[in-house]
Amino acid sequence: MNTVYYVIKQSTCPVCMGNRIVTHPSWLAFWETNQNPTDENIYKWFRDEDYAYPPNEEIPCMECGGTGVISCLVDISEVLQFIEDRITNLESALFQKVNS
Ligand SMILES: [Zn+2]
Repeated sequence: MNTVYYVIKQSTCPVCMGNRIVTHPSWLAFWETNQNPTDENIYKWFRDEDYAYPPNEEIPCMECGGTGVISCLVDISEVLQFIEDRITNLESALFQKVNS
């Protein structure tokens, strides 16, 4: 196997926006139809949805595993190409500025 180097790319989770938690999907469904609920109709609504008790309204984000960050590996050759392209663009902009 050839050796391949990677760079870790980290970005804010697009699902929880870095907050690490999201609203439970059943609570989202509940809030769609219940604007000013009482305790009684909260329990009734969730019992009708086969819950013994209402689940926690906020749960860890499944997309980022509750970290708020998405990480992925990027082949270092792509990163080096990106840097090279940026340098080329900067050189081109500088050349145009000097010659104007
Ligand atoms: Zn997330």
